[in-house]
Amino acid sequence: MGRIDITGGFSIHDYRAKLKLLHDDGETRTLENRAELGCPACGRAFDRLFVTEDATASFDTPPERPFCLARTEAKLLLMTH
Ligand SMILES: [Zn+2]
Repeated sequence: MGRIDITGGFSIHDYRAKLKLLHDDGETRTLENRAELGCPACGRAFDRLFVTEDATASFDTPPERPFCLARTEAKLLLMTH
């Protein structure tokens, strides 16, 4: 099933076939996991992936489920399970 590898950074293009873009406001992207991709933090398949390159990000609706964080030099990733 594969797992997102953030060694050397993260690019959505590397997983384009497996992640469906749900929302993109230019600063934060929300993606749906369509291929049981594994979380870069815990290895379990995640549900949604939020990606931002901003220093800060806010979410109107907190994930009412377990979530993991991962960061690269350029991006912050939040995965909900
Ligand atoms: Zn996880």
